[in-house]
Amino acid sequence: MELYQLEHPSDRVFLCTRSDCNEVADYLELSEEGGEEVFCASHTSSEKHVSVLRKRACHTGYLFRSRPVAA
Ligand SMILES: [Zn+2]
Repeated sequence: MELYQLEHPSDRVFLCTRSDCNEVADYLELSEEGGEEVFCASHTSSEKHVSVLRKRACHTGYLFRSRPVAA
């Protein structure tokens, strides 16, 4: 498991992948299998604050719910 600070693309915002959660995701978690999941501060498994993590963009954004920033 690798943890990163999620960098949002300029045109959309990723939401936490927990189905009952509508918070904006701040954490990107990479599994050993290469899977990516994004979580808000409440649902991440990270014990570190997001501000101390390295930044990384999400590459499989189509897996996640997203919405236009301007909506
Ligand atoms: Zn959440």
